Amino acid sequence: MKPAIVVENVITRFEENLVHDGVSLSVNSGEIFGLLGPSGCGKTTLMREMVLLEQFQSGSIHIFGHELKSIEYESAQQLRQSWGVLFQYGALYSSLTVGQNIAVQLEEYTNLSAKLIEEIVRFKIDLVGLKPSDADLYPSQISGGMRKKAALARALVLDPKLLFLDEPASGLDPISAREFDALILKMREIMGLTVVMVSHDLDSIYGTLDRMAVIDNKKIVVEGTIENVLSVQSPFIDTFFNNRKH
Ligand code: ATP
Repeated sequence: MKPAIVVENVITRFEENLVHDGVSLSVNSGEIFGLLGPSGCGKTTLMREMVLLEQFQSGSIHIFGHELKSIEYESAQQLRQSWGVLFQYGALYSSLTVGQNIAVQLEEYTNLSAKLIEEIVRFKIDLVGLKPSDADLYPSQISGGMRKKAALARALVLDPKLLFLDEPASGLDPISAREFDALILKMREIMGLTVVMVSHDLDSIYGTLDRMAVIDNKKIVVEGTIENVLSVQSPFIDTFFNNRKH
């Protein structure tokens, strides 16, 4: 099977700041793939490039065979509907209820009737483990864990094939974080998703990732399974995985 995402030799520079100096990796269809590396190494930037929110200077990124640098407007708009994104600070709209937040994209991108939109929203709310009555609550009225679930329901509302998650465990207590990990695994199973995740959370990394890439010093240090990663000598990997290595 063709990989869902292929990144080749990407160079990213913000003025004098060279962030990626020839980054390459590929994400297979159906896997949960992690982007790891020290703070500021360019994980979020690479993810933003994959979803057309950031430009890179050279190299290429293919998503489902579409090359992002040369993609035309119409194809880009279509491609955008094939992924869901849950960013670290991707807060829900505070003036909208949970249900209205989840419905936004359906109202924007489809011609579905209000009744059908309501049904889809109810279905997604149930899918992520929220209660039907949560649809009427505002983000300020629900817990952090519930907010993440609602944001996930919103990211999955158009039944995407790809899901991008930036630090999904951040801000959650350990129990909610593990619950969220389980939810991601369940969504992958039910929806056949391919997931790309930036993570610092060791339990999430061990519990959910099939493969991962470690970025350090502007390049990919290693790409592969956790065993592959642990077998590589690198100061970052040594420190990050610390006592779990043995
Ligand atoms: P963290 O783990 O701390 O979230 P990260 O690995 O995700 O970090 P990025 O947020 O991708 O790192 O940032 C990588 C580098 O790119 C940083 O030096 C950052 O300051 C810089 N950077 C990111 N976005 C921009 C931008 N829009 N303009 C200028 N510099 C940027």
